[in-house]
Amino acid sequence: MLIKKYDLEVFTPPCDPGAERYAARARLTVDISEVLLYLNATLRGAIYHPGANALTWKKGGHNIAFHAYEIATSNVEDREGAEQEIEGLIDLANRTWKRRDEIKPDKTTRQRPTPMAIYKLLPNTNCKRCDEPTCYSFALKLAASKKKLADCPILGEPIYEDKFTALKEMVLFPAE
Ligand code: SF4
Repeated sequence: MLIKKYDLEVFTPPCDPGAERYAARARLTVDISEVLLYLNATLRGAIYHPGANALTWKKGGHNIAFHAYEIATSNVEDREGAEQEIEGLIDLANRTWKRRDEIKPDKTTRQRPTPMAIYKLLPNTNCKRCDEPTCYSFALKLAASKKKLADCPILGEPIYEDKFTALKEMVLFPAE
């Protein structure tokens, strides 16, 4: 196991007082810089920042960052959820490190697609079956990882197969 112990801090970001969103960070006693390259190879939607020696990721609308000596999350709904998320991220880093012989490390920096680029590949029916008022609204949520491709049932229709395939490659989000 790479990360055996860490100091956990949960707080409400001072820039957003009263927002009732929580952030948490684990301060590590080991350098996980090398793990970032394996996480970059395996986490869909992650963005590696070589200059900052960091990897950012969005999960369920939460903002996640891995640094050499720190793992952090923000925009979490409650304190307990923030703690659990950090525990899950520590576990993820450890599991990824354990599997490193099976993974080719990746130094690539990917760009997140813009909402407009996503929108252009959506069915554009504005049918609201994704619980969004328009396809563009869905694209905004998808770009922010607050929706998944599978939340648009129309994309599963054969006529949209090519667009669905392109979206899966572009947005790097899980399709389910
Ligand atoms: S379900 Fe799909 S097609 Fe319908 S509004 Fe949402 S994104 Fe557009």
